[in-house]
Amino acid sequence: MHWRTRLVQPQSLAPKGFASLTVPTHRASTVLFERQADVRDGWRQDQHGYTYGVYGTPTTLELGARIAQLEGAHHTFVVPGGQAAIALVYLSVCKPGCHVLVPYSAYGPNLKLARGLLARFDVTIEAYDPLIGAGIDALIRPETALIWTESPGSVTMEIQDVPAICAAARARGVTVALDNTYAAGVLFDAFAHGVDISIQALTKYVGGHSDLLLGTVSVRDADLKTRVGDTHQQLGMAASPDDCSLALRGLQTLALRLDHLERATLEIARWLAEQPQIEAVYHPALPDCPGHAVWKRDFTGSASVFSILFRDAYDKAAVAAFIDALQLFKIGMSWGGVTSLALSYPELARPNRDYAGRLVRLNIGLEQTQELIDDLRQALAGLDGG
Ligand SMILES: *Cc1c(COP(=O)(O)O)cnc(C)c1O
Repeated sequence: MHWRTRLVQPQSLAPKGFASLTVPTHRASTVLFERQADVRDGWRQDQHGYTYGVYGTPTTLELGARIAQLEGAHHTFVVPGGQAAIALVYLSVCKPGCHVLVPYSAYGPNLKLARGLLARFDVTIEAYDPLIGAGIDALIRPETALIWTESPGSVTMEIQDVPAICAAARARGVTVALDNTYAAGVLFDAFAHGVDISIQALTKYVGGHSDLLLGTVSVRDADLKTRVGDTHQQLGMAASPDDCSLALRGLQTLALRLDHLERATLEIARWLAEQPQIEAVYHPALPDCPGHAVWKRDFTGSASVFSILFRDAYDKAAVAAFIDALQLFKIGMSWGGVTSLALSYPELARPNRDYAGRLVRLNIGLEQTQELIDDLRQALAGLDGG
C-alpha cells in the first residue's frame, strides 16, 4: 500500500490483549457494516446493532446504561446538556394544542423554552405553585399532555410532593417528568415515586468538575423509550463521547463527593441560619425550606446547593457587595463541581413572593469547610461595616 493509503486505512499495530479499568472513548460518525445488505439507519442498537455515530458509540451507550441502572429506568438517552434533555422531553410528549404544567420554581430556561419556542408551536404553558401537591388535579385539562416537576426548585428550593402529583396525573393519563438534577439521580428515587420521565443535567454532580455539559433523559417504559428515541433521532441530539468518558469517570467518585458535600453543606447552612443578617436558609434538610417535611419523607440525602435570604435591612446593592467581598466563593453559574460558588438573583420574583434581590444561592465545593465559613463570616461582617 502507498503510504497515503496506509495513513487512512485502519490497521491495528499495537500488541493485542490489553485490559484496563476504563471505558474506551469511541469517537465516531461513520459506523462500519460488513456487507451492503447489513446497512441500516436506526437508533435501536439492541435490534440492529450500531448504525451511525449520532445514535451513540459504546462510550455514550455505556454511560446511558449506567445511569439507567442507577436510576432504575427502563432506558436512558444521553444528550448534549440538561437543557437539551428538557427540550427532548417537551418535543417527545407535546403536540400543537396541548397544555403543559410547569412549576414556577422550575429551572429558568425550562420556562423560557415553554414560553418561547413551544408557545410558537401552539403549546399552552401554565406555571403552577410548586407546593400544590394533590391540588394539581384542579389544573389538569382534557388536553394536558405533560406535568413538569423539579424538586427542590431552582434557587427558591421548594420541595414538591411528587408522589401526590404523579397520583393525580396517572388518574387522568398525564405524563409526569421530573428534573432530578439536584438528587444526582440517587438521592430521590424518581421511578419508585411515580414519575414517567426523569432528566438530569450530568453537567452538575455526575460530571462534578465544571468541565463538561451533558444531560440524560430516563424513561419508565418501552412506549416512552420509542417516543423519546424517535424524537432524539429526528433532532440529531448527539452527545460527545469525550464528554461521556469524563462523566463515566465522574460516576466513580460520585458517592464520595456527595457524602462530603452533604456534610460540609449542612455545616455551612446551619452556621448561616444563626447569623443575624440572614432571615432564612432554604436548604432541604432545614425547617425553613418550603416542603421540608416532604424532603424528609422522600429523599435519602441532601446535596451542595442551597439559598439564603438576607433580612430586609439589606438591599440589592448590599447583597451584591456581600458576594463581591467573598474570596473563596467564586461568582458563576452552574453548580455541583468542586469549587464553591455564590450568585444573587436581583430580578427573581415568584407570583406569590418578591425576594427583592435578597436571595443568594450558594454551591459548596470541596475546600476546607472551616475556611468557607471564615470567608462567609468576613463578607457578612463587611456588610455591617465591620
Ligand atoms: C443546570 C441545570 C439544567 C441545565 O443543564 P445544562 O447542562 O447546563 O444545560 C437543568 N436543570 C437544572 C435543575 C439545572 O440546575
